[in-house]
Amino acid sequence: MMDTEKYLIALENFICKLQQLPDSDPEQVPEDMAVLCRALRVGKAESVIYENEGTAQQGTFATACFYDGGNSSADDCVSRRVNAADGKTAFYNMYPIKGESEWTQEERNRIDALTAVLSVLNGKSKIVRSIRYMTSHDMELGVYNIKHFMMTASMLCRSRQIFRYTAVRFNLKRFSVVNEHIGRENGTQVMIRFIGLINDVLKDENELTCRVGGDNFLTLVRTENLESVIKILSGTGVAYGEGRGERVLIKTTVGVYHVKDMGGSILPTDVMDRVSIAFKLAKDSPTTDIVYFNDEIFARIKRSNEISAAFPKALEQREFLVYYQPKVALDGRHIAGAEALCRWMHDGRMVSPGEFIPVLEQGLDICKLDFYMLDAVCRDIRKWLDSGRDVVRISVNMSRRHLTEIDLLERIIEIVDRNNVPHKYIELELTETTTDVEFKDLKNIIAGLRQAGIATAVDDFGIGYSSLNLIKELPWDVLKLDRSLLPAEGDENAAQKGVMFRYIVAMAQEMGLECVSEGAETAEQIRLLSEYKCNISQGFYFDRPLPAEEFEKRLDKSFVYER
Ligand code: C2E
Ligand code: MG
Ligand code: MG
Repeated sequence: MMDTEKYLIALENFICKLQQLPDSDPEQVPEDMAVLCRALRVGKAESVIYENEGTAQQGTFATACFYDGGNSSADDCVSRRVNAADGKTAFYNMYPIKGESEWTQEERNRIDALTAVLSVLNGKSKIVRSIRYMTSHDMELGVYNIKHFMMTASMLCRSRQIFRYTAVRFNLKRFSVVNEHIGRENGTQVMIRFIGLINDVLKDENELTCRVGGDNFLTLVRTENLESVIKILSGTGVAYGEGRGERVLIKTTVGVYHVKDMGGSILPTDVMDRVSIAFKLAKDSPTTDIVYFNDEIFARIKRSNEISAAFPKALEQREFLVYYQPKVALDGRHIAGAEALCRWMHDGRMVSPGEFIPVLEQGLDICKLDFYMLDAVCRDIRKWLDSGRDVVRISVNMSRRHLTEIDLLERIIEIVDRNNVPHKYIELELTETTTDVEFKDLKNIIAGLRQAGIATAVDDFGIGYSSLNLIKELPWDVLKLDRSLLPAEGDENAAQKGVMFRYIVAMAQEMGLECVSEGAETAEQIRLLSEYKCNISQGFYFDRPLPAEEFEKRLDKSFVYER
């Protein structure tokens, strides 16, 4: 006979314990389940799940045992059938204890109620578990996802254990080519196996690899295990297919951040940001596949952040000044034009463009600066014209970042016209572009400017992917040859450079372009320019970039540079 009081206490304990579990899984409280079963004179409690209703009873898909006293009888059974949401059918079976008297009707009712409770709880815990799996895993590869990485990192940051770990961000090199060669399915298999190799060297419960997306991954590894991970990432053969010895060599581009205790608090986003910066540097580097985040990188980023933060106010307070570097016509040694170059007077010190332009170019702040510069140049030109000076054409730099602006042309013309400056006094310098999309935008802008009577120049020709073909396609007015093309004293390959220079100038001139040589510093270089028939020089030999008041003197009619 059932002892009702014992049963009620057992039931209460069972429910209390389950409530404390995040997913109320009855399999996780075996002791309480056993007490409850014994109180109900149950010898064994189990669930059997069948693949689907059609094949039910024909093949067992899975069984789960909630309790087995080792003394059950199969002669009787209270059973409950449940159709699960995933199309499977589950049976919750309770067997009596061998040799004991039959269950009373009251016992049967309670046992039946227990099967109902078990089926609901078990179903719920399965759903909770699968949701947990889905929210923490990448469903294609079955590895962790970024959300799980951030949760783990967050927990380690809070407990400050994170300082024992190193974050490694990596990309599988040329994996699209691997996919093309061996097929997408094999490619996926290779990815899973490669991550498996890395995970094999991870030992503690917080070490993990997650997929960031595509063929990009992040590993959090105890620093003492880092070397083993790096060894795999440096290049490992991975087998695929049916085991006939097919293998591919997987190499990676890697950013590493050994999380450093710098006293203050640290956030998982700091870890993510720093490892991503190291990764980006590795990706952009022509010489190395692996970059370790270090103090120097940290200082550079801090400086970048300071510049970005100070920029809006600096622009508002007109801390940016226009300096003018004359372009000199070599035949008459007179001024033939000038380039406007930006200088930043900040906190009593002059910051050079090399420091702040690359930072502003990471976002769209550079566009604000360029429009500010164009406006400032137009104001100066207007002033010079009003005071009766002979004004030369002034070139203003325009970052490639502008190319995505739909109304770029209108904005440029609006600024020039607002200042009442004849278009012939303005030239815009743009660097070459490498992508087709940019090329199209660039073409529209150059053509539009030409129509408006504003001249355009290709800046820094000779570095990067210079192509005369690209120049032929667009109606440029001026070609500015980069300083690196001009032979200098001590150059090993001065003779070849000279040949290149001469022929680029000849070809450009034949295409109707004016040629300006950047960066001539010596009399010998000026002599070479004459020899190469490049008539205009912008370089320190004649003048450095000058403050406006100094530059104005160069506009005097009587001014000529000495021979
Ligand atoms: P850039 O447009 O090619 O400008 C020419 C740079 O070469 C200037 O550097 C100039 O001072 C330098 N230079 C001229 N002659 C010589 C020489 O004989 N020897 C040497 N060693 N250097 C010479 P700066 O003023 O430091 O500007 C650097 C770059 O910053 C510019 O290169 C340009 O790309 C960018 N920049 C400057 N102002 C602006 C601006 O207002 N907007 C944008 N988007 N970029 C700007
Ligand atoms: Mg320039
Ligand atoms: Mg230049």
